[in-house]
Amino acid sequence: MSGDTIFGKIIRREIPANIVYEDDLCIAFRDIAPQAPVHILVIPKKPIPSLADITAEDKEVLGHMLLIIQQIADQEGLTEKGYRVVTNIGTEGGQTVFHLHFHLMGGRAMHWPPG
Ligand code: AMP
Repeated sequence: MSGDTIFGKIIRREIPANIVYEDDLCIAFRDIAPQAPVHILVIPKKPIPSLADITAEDKEVLGHMLLIIQQIADQEGLTEKGYRVVTNIGTEGGQTVFHLHFHLMGGRAMHWPPG
């Protein structure tokens, strides 16, 4: 169920990660280079390269991931003050790992627009 990226290796437990949540459809772990006090990546177990590659078949997993993001944000104590959820798409979007992931970031004031 996982492709040949660093995130596939995390799903298959071939490299370590600080996993905060896992179920049949997705897994969430702390970013190795956090850009905020809380910086968690939520990824599907299915190796979808990016949001540009989703199809109608992926509706369930994507909706599920958004609910899990909401749940993790709550567990991390971010709900009251707010937080940011971002997905980068392709080279100009700033994507470096080509396995779909949502960045959940919080614990500090965010700026807009991002760089
Ligand atoms: P993006 O640039 O949107 O593709 O984001 C990729 C993210 O993955 C970056 O924030 C990296 O710091 C993070 N990252 C890369 N390798 C690992 C890893 N082994 N464990 C956790 N996070 C990672």
